[in-house]
Amino acid sequence: MTTPPSTTDRTPSNKTVLYCFDCGHESPSDGDWTVRPTTDGDRYDCPECGTTITVRPTETTRGPDQQTTSCYCT
Ligand SMILES: [Zn+2]
Repeated sequence: MTTPPSTTDRTPSNKTVLYCFDCGHESPSDGDWTVRPTTDGDRYDCPECGTTITVRPTETTRGPDQQTTSCYCT
């Protein structure tokens, strides 16, 4: 019998699992957390106890004062 060398039993997920340090609730970062956009970024609150787990800075900085710098790298 020929068995394929690569065993694809489960793809390792790159998802970050967040844990609530208060009630122990755990879920991936795109799971059932209550995400609220704040000025600092997206705030992740626990859906069970409401504890703020983390704040992730938004990738796109909004605001007109963000200067567009010319890139000279060639
Ligand atoms: Zn919690």
